[in-house]
Amino acid sequence: MRLQLTPAQRAFQQDLRAFYEREVQPGWRTRYKTFEELGAYLLDWEKVLYRGNWSVPTWPAEFDGRGADAIERAIFTEETARFDAPEGLNRLGKRLVAPVLMRHGTDAQRSHLARIRSGEEVWCQGFSEPNAGSDLVNIRTAAVRDGSDWVINGRKIWTSFAQFADWVMLLVRTGAADSRAEGISIILVSLDTPGIEISPIQTIAGRSEFNEVSFDDVRVPLENLVGAENGGWPIVRSVLQDERGAEFCLARYTDIRRIFEDVTSYAKTDADRSYPGRIGADYARIYTIQLLASDLLDRGQRDATPEGLESMLKLYTTETWRSLGDDQVHYWAHDLFERGGKEGLEDYYESRHYTISAGTSEIQRNLIAGRLLQLPSSRRSAP
Ligand SMILES: Cc1cc2nc3c(=O)[nH]c(=O)nc-3n(C[C@H](O)[C@H](O)[C@H](O)COP(=O)(O)OP(=O)(O)OC[C@H]3O[C@@H](n4cnc5c(N)ncnc54)[C@H](O)[C@@H]3O)c2cc1C
Repeated sequence: MRLQLTPAQRAFQQDLRAFYEREVQPGWRTRYKTFEELGAYLLDWEKVLYRGNWSVPTWPAEFDGRGADAIERAIFTEETARFDAPEGLNRLGKRLVAPVLMRHGTDAQRSHLARIRSGEEVWCQGFSEPNAGSDLVNIRTAAVRDGSDWVINGRKIWTSFAQFADWVMLLVRTGAADSRAEGISIILVSLDTPGIEISPIQTIAGRSEFNEVSFDDVRVPLENLVGAENGGWPIVRSVLQDERGAEFCLARYTDIRRIFEDVTSYAKTDADRSYPGRIGADYARIYTIQLLASDLLDRGQRDATPEGLESMLKLYTTETWRSLGDDQVHYWAHDLFERGGKEGLEDYYESRHYTISAGTSEIQRNLIAGRLLQLPSSRRSAP
């Protein structure tokens, strides 16, 4: 992106470049063979980011962030992609949990922010259940008051990074079993609490980013409730909006650029002349992602984002990544096994992930139709 920078923005860029030049270890992506090893490295990276004052560039200054403006966020994205710098393991803590604590947390709950920023506390997101993914109003994990505690029973699934996490932001039913959106609350739960079991799930890529997390009579202090009892649904909607918004999508930009460059370098030497048109279309999509993200950031600064716009960015970003994954496999097909067979396919598998997480592409299309175009929905709409 070509930008006219102010002196402060140029200083931001130079500071970040110097930090990445000093700290990013070339080859970090392929160095770690297991997800556990990679996770440990990304956990350390959180501390490196913190020491360099780069762990939460977008947090407001009142919470000790750098308060990066829209241009500085674009610079951060560009430089992170250029250096192929890691993202860190606490992305859910920093980008999903922190805004909830900033907007709705008590003073005691907000005290987690400093530990999230420093990488001392890793957080995960416990929303999805075996029968409630797109349709989160169906969650069954229940929290019942008992004296000064909530007693929690139930099961969460697809909980990313739970095996590394200290805390979970948990979606629970505090109303009657049929209360749907009106009976949902958010509770902060330390993963050390007795009665919690975390079982990693192996993905097709041979990794275990996901976990199943079960809660068996888990006792949590009443004051760990965020916001009002049964008032969790508007918070869920804002979390999902964040998860589909510019911050998250721009974090995926590093992967998209990396794969795009890989594919382009293949296309330059490949004999198949029919394929490059597809890559031209990918390039147009990447350009559109940048424009949409800048528009969202700009609107966000003015508090003027129409609901549904973030679904467009999420859909574009994740479907572009998926399409690039297909292109990569097309070019790799002849030397796939030299690249390490199944392991060489990690990028390809990962390019599928994000069309599902934070709401599938089908859900995003429905939300664009319903929220931006006010068209009738053929099925019950998801958050
Ligand atoms: C990489 C990754 C990371 C994740 N991390 C987390 C996490 O940390 N925490 C967490 O809580 N969850 C996490 N998830 C879970 C994720 O949010 C759910 O997988 C997702 O919301 C879809 O839910 P589901 O898997 O139950 O599929 P379902 O909701 O059962 O959907 C199955 C299919 O039906 C379609 N469908 C469903 N409803 C509709 C509808 N109304 N209209 C049209 N089509 C529809 C879907 O598009 C999909 O194709 C993660 C998932 C992935 C892939």
